[in-house]
Amino acid sequence: GKPKLWNFSAGPAILPPVVLERAAEAVHELRQDGHAKDAAGVGMSILEISHRSAPYEAITFGAEKLVHEVLGVPETHQVLFLQGGASLQFVMVPLNLREADKFAAYVDTGVWSGRAIAESEGLGPTRVVASSKATNYDRIPEFPAADTYAGASYLHITTNNTIYGTEYPEIPEAQGGVPLVIDFSSHAGARPMALERAALGYAGAQKNLGPSGVTLVYVRKDLLAKKPAAHVPVYLRYGTHAKEPSLYNTPNTFGVLVLKLVLEWMRDEGGLAAIGARNERKARRLYDVLDHSKVFQPHAQPGSRSHMNVTWTCGRAPEAQREAIAKKFLAEAQALGFDGLKGHRSVGGFRASIYNAFPEAGVVALCEFITEFERRL
Ligand code: PMP
Repeated sequence: GKPKLWNFSAGPAILPPVVLERAAEAVHELRQDGHAKDAAGVGMSILEISHRSAPYEAITFGAEKLVHEVLGVPETHQVLFLQGGASLQFVMVPLNLREADKFAAYVDTGVWSGRAIAESEGLGPTRVVASSKATNYDRIPEFPAADTYAGASYLHITTNNTIYGTEYPEIPEAQGGVPLVIDFSSHAGARPMALERAALGYAGAQKNLGPSGVTLVYVRKDLLAKKPAAHVPVYLRYGTHAKEPSLYNTPNTFGVLVLKLVLEWMRDEGGLAAIGARNERKARRLYDVLDHSKVFQPHAQPGSRSHMNVTWTCGRAPEAQREAIAKKFLAEAQALGFDGLKGHRSVGGFRASIYNAFPEAGVVALCEFITEFERRL
């Protein structure tokens, strides 16, 4: 049936009902074999069990395997489940991958890449090689020419920009053997992607993959042996977490279980091809309504539009009326159960985050509401 609220939150975000049910069950009693459906109970809650126990090992190693199988992370890369959010990766990437006498290259596509750039600047020479700041990050800038980042330790991009609703149509290829690093937090698992093009990728789980408190990282194994430019604290080395895979210290055991349940759900839905096709339909329907609106205006430009975070303003309404219309729209939407549609302050207007677990019926309902709202204006 229809849920009480349509949850459009950017993250933590909506999860599949079956995942919530299974997670609740594991809070009561975890089952053997990575909480397999018909397996025997282990006599303890997932919240109580040691991360050094066999039942937890089945969870973390099972989740790792599913990251390869379902998300398509190649075997050349080590999968890690870390803590500290994507924000800690803003720090760990330059700490680990910066080489002596080399600069780090970044593409600036908004607030989150800005945070990554700031951390890099604090640690060494950093160059912003492309930016869409001039148009308030309404697009993905043209991919920088190879000579702008030649000789860099790595090139960092944010492949889906949660706040602005922009997305690289595909993972680009960095030239000249420069390792590509991707922050793919807000569209991990959204469709088949050429993840092998990145030497390192990271994603906070709380959008498409699970709860907050787990960060998925995958890193090409040869990079683990690389000598960084300066001393790196033990805890902040990828090598530390790769050696005893994601078990160096106490992990977010519950979060890793939920991530595993989400990956199983994705597999059972038909994998990334089926999920990607559904996401494409959802996004196309919403952009189509917005593109034909006389009041609303999508923020992201065609060719750069996110399938996960759809952003728009009252940009086609007379300027003097925009504020009042936006207020009325949000109030009415909320009363009808459309939750979390207020846009981030740096874009204003509205944002509908329609991650994998967000049902197609919710997008249809939102589109009907937008059309009906506009008719009444
Ligand atoms: N990168 C992107 C693209 C994000 O959307 C976010 C969070 N909204 C972050 C990084 C920061 O993630 P965290 O809160 O997990 O540190």
